[in-house]
Amino acid sequence: MSDRRPYLAANWKMNKTPAESDAFFERFLGEIGGLDDRDIVVCPPFTSLADAVDRCRRSPVRIAAQNMHEAESGAFTGEVSAPMLSAIGVEAVVLGHSERRALFAETDEALARKVPVALAAGLEPILCVGESEAQRDAGETESVLRRQVEADLAGVGDAELASVVIAYEPIWAIGTGKTATPDLAEEAVAHIRALIGERDPAAAAAIRILYGGSVKPDNAAELLGRGEIDGALVGGASLEPADFLAICRAA
Ligand code: PEP
Repeated sequence: MSDRRPYLAANWKMNKTPAESDAFFERFLGEIGGLDDRDIVVCPPFTSLADAVDRCRRSPVRIAAQNMHEAESGAFTGEVSAPMLSAIGVEAVVLGHSERRALFAETDEALARKVPVALAAGLEPILCVGESEAQRDAGETESVLRRQVEADLAGVGDAELASVVIAYEPIWAIGTGKTATPDLAEEAVAHIRALIGERDPAAAAAIRILYGGSVKPDNAAELLGRGEIDGALVGGASLEPADFLAICRAA
């Protein structure tokens, strides 16, 4: 049993208007009792962030953004910066989600800049890494994870490594209903922890590493019961308050 605090994050992606977000919190916060011993983070779209921060102010829930730009300000139409997020009370940010890497050309080079910028602004980075199905079939999982972890965290000093949360998200398991087996998920998470350990053993022992990919109420306990897996990044099943609560309770 590790003494790392369990971490459950809800990635809503491009779902929920502010009114729908409010309805979620009305139900979710009403039933959240007894979960004070874990980190619960909800990542709404930009348009719901300020209301969500307000709504969750006196609750155990913290609010995260799903992306940010690495510059502080400037000619970057459509982008939002780290200081803008922290100014409205956002406390964390998802970086490197596979949808952003695949659909919006987010690169490891950009992530190497974004992760330290998030930390400097007081935002907890939730860094997503993971292999595609073709890479897994070709036996490249470990080398892909090494490349991403080394590159994306290159600008983070050893003393700050444990302030990052890493989500292992095999791309073939995201939104597909194909969950990684607990053995496979734990093996990849242990590999990521070993990579952090190559830089700093204390950080490896402390850093939270989550699993993400079709986590549902009925498979959460088995995945989250594995000692290496410190929590979950949940997409589809986080849109329903009852489902996300059941996953939070399974940790
Ligand atoms: C995700 O979006 O990070 C994710 C894991 O999605 P899902 O749970 O729907 O597979």
